[in-house]
Amino acid sequence: MPGNNKVGFISLGCPKALVDSERILTQLRMDGYDIVPDYAGADVVVVNTCGFIDLARQESLDAIGEALHENGRVIVTGCLGAQAESITSVHPKVLAVSGPHAYEQVVGQVHEYLPPPPKTHDPFSDLVPPQGIKLTPRHYAYLKISEGCNHRCSFCIIPSMRGDLVSRPIADVLEEAERLVNAGVKELLVISQDTSAYGVDTKYQTGFWQGRPLKANMQGLCEALAEFGIWVRLHYVYPYPHVDNIIPLMAENKIVPYLDIPFQHASLPILKAMKRPAATEKSLQRIQNWRTQCPDLTIRSTFIVGFPGETEDDFQQLLDFLEQAQLDRVGCFQYSPVVGAKANELANHVADEIKQERWNRFMETQQAISTSRLANKIGKTIEVLVDSVDDQGATARSHADAPEIDGVVYIAKDEELEPGNLLKVTVTDSDAYDLYAKRGRRYPQKISN
Ligand code: SF4
Repeated sequence: MPGNNKVGFISLGCPKALVDSERILTQLRMDGYDIVPDYAGADVVVVNTCGFIDLARQESLDAIGEALHENGRVIVTGCLGAQAESITSVHPKVLAVSGPHAYEQVVGQVHEYLPPPPKTHDPFSDLVPPQGIKLTPRHYAYLKISEGCNHRCSFCIIPSMRGDLVSRPIADVLEEAERLVNAGVKELLVISQDTSAYGVDTKYQTGFWQGRPLKANMQGLCEALAEFGIWVRLHYVYPYPHVDNIIPLMAENKIVPYLDIPFQHASLPILKAMKRPAATEKSLQRIQNWRTQCPDLTIRSTFIVGFPGETEDDFQQLLDFLEQAQLDRVGCFQYSPVVGAKANELANHVADEIKQERWNRFMETQQAISTSRLANKIGKTIEVLVDSVDDQGATARSHADAPEIDGVVYIAKDEELEPGNLLKVTVTDSDAYDLYAKRGRRYPQKISN
């Protein structure tokens, strides 16, 4: 086969895994490999797996099985790879397995099974754009600031797969951010397992960026990222007291007034059984203080219903919390046991039909909250970033909407719009999750699906 250096790549899992995939692909391109979009044209296939919950594990195992069936030469990496035997016991023919963020290891394995072509090019200028290979659209990018996690939430096996917290040096993070901004990125989505813990492992060691010292903690990082003058959105923030220091930056619109805080529950005994970081009854008060300082703040969160030991009273506390906190964006999962998680050993698992019934009540409650909060935006002028354009109009996002997980803003047809445009629109209508808007004064109809 000409070139004989073609790699197929399957990327599964969360934004953190996506960033791992981007790094591996960037390195493979620098080494002279071609990345091909189908099994038939590939000399070897790399599968970046997810292992977070049983469903994701099964999806990963199925993807490996398909790649083996269609191609036969498969290298596995990613979270599920941390438990290599769970892969090799099902698929003994995989060529090699590595764990999450094992960039050098997986690239080394590709070299072993498919030697790279002789270097006749300059790897930096010929094949790879300066910002590296991005799997997201051109106008936004994930910026991973750390690996791993120091917490041990009882339902989670991420620390056993990704290890303890390792923060990237602040200068490296800012250098990557600058490359992305220079390449046209208009929104940086800061990700990690615990963004508020940034720098804990390095004791907030001062770094140097453009000749000036910067403290490597969450606030120092946010202040420096704000200087790029683009949207900076924070994900996976835990409500530690020092998060309060970030709110003024949001109030001044230096970073996007949006906090993604996975509260997971509101009942203290359940939070304790979950071993959640910053589990406290003061969350409501904190939220109120933040909103007083920054009225435009959007709070997104996720919750688990039906955690072992959750009583009707615990669940009612969760519903009460939702009513009082009036969160903007909320995801909810029914608890399901994950192989290797400590929570499996807890007593009083909740029956499936009760989990379902609580999930329904939760969603109903939150849907009413979301509908009324979005309706309050009708008539307001908001800034949006256009993600895509088709013949019905444009799909965009406001400060309140992270890609993939939140709602969107539909903009009535406007010939001049293109993906990546930043513009002001007036909100004309809303539903449970999305907004409808238009440039100028006239109000459009809802765009039908
Ligand atoms: S904070 Fe908890 S849920 Fe999040 S990665 Fe760490 S252990 Fe898992």
